[in-house]
Amino acid sequence: MLKVKKFGGTSVADKEKIFNVANRCIEDYKNGDEIVLVLSAMGKHTDELISLSNEISTNVPKREMDMLLAVGEQITVSLMAMAFYKLGVPAVSLNAFQVKMFTNSNYGDAELTKIETERIRKELSEKKIVIVTGFQGIDENQNYTTLGRGGSDTTAVALAAALKADSCEIYTDVDGVYTADPRIVSDAIKLENVSYEEMLEFSNLGAGVLHNKCVKIAKENDIKLVVRSSLTNSARYYDFKLL
Ligand code: ASP
Ligand code: MG
Repeated sequence: MLKVKKFGGTSVADKEKIFNVANRCIEDYKNGDEIVLVLSAMGKHTDELISLSNEISTNVPKREMDMLLAVGEQITVSLMAMAFYKLGVPAVSLNAFQVKMFTNSNYGDAELTKIETERIRKELSEKKIVIVTGFQGIDENQNYTTLGRGGSDTTAVALAAALKADSCEIYTDVDGVYTADPRIVSDAIKLENVSYEEMLEFSNLGAGVLHNKCVKIAKENDIKLVVRSSLTNSARYYDFKLL
């Protein structure tokens, strides 16, 4: 099976967590699955990069902002590749340029337009785990773009669609999809089954689990999204069905 797995910032925030993610992927890899791993920037790194830019100016060119923010995900993917190397499993990290993940030029909130699959397929055929930067793209003039905060989910779902993956698993530090962000709203209710429409609404309202664009791409491509906890092994399955 070809599996796209996405881990967010909290799940890769330090060395232990990076090895934890690597080991979880290795389990599937040893069972014969092909793994494409999409990662976000470590911890609060994207926020820190934004603060750095604010020290220069609060009115920075959007193109330069995306150039800066694209750094975060590259740090994570290269460190993750090093972790696999240390564990003796072949892996390669790729950024938006190397994969060729194209977007429009709407800096800071770009839409993915085309993802090439040739490079990823070549690496997979060489039995490597392929680690891809979430959140970033390139426009037709070879500028970095970013997909909006939380955009790595969208990278994962779009990659799953382009690769016709068997599953797309989004790992998060909450154990499922709630009506609101359970880290903020204490009486948020965990949802058992959600339709695409409901999920879109919840993510627009800030449920925080899934990036709203990712729900739209999953709907359009009929992709089965699995939302899992990166902290425990318990899994919540969400089969997004059209109403
Ligand atoms: N690193 C980006 C952000 O903090 C993208 C993501 O986490 O999905 O928004
Ligand atoms: Mg997120």
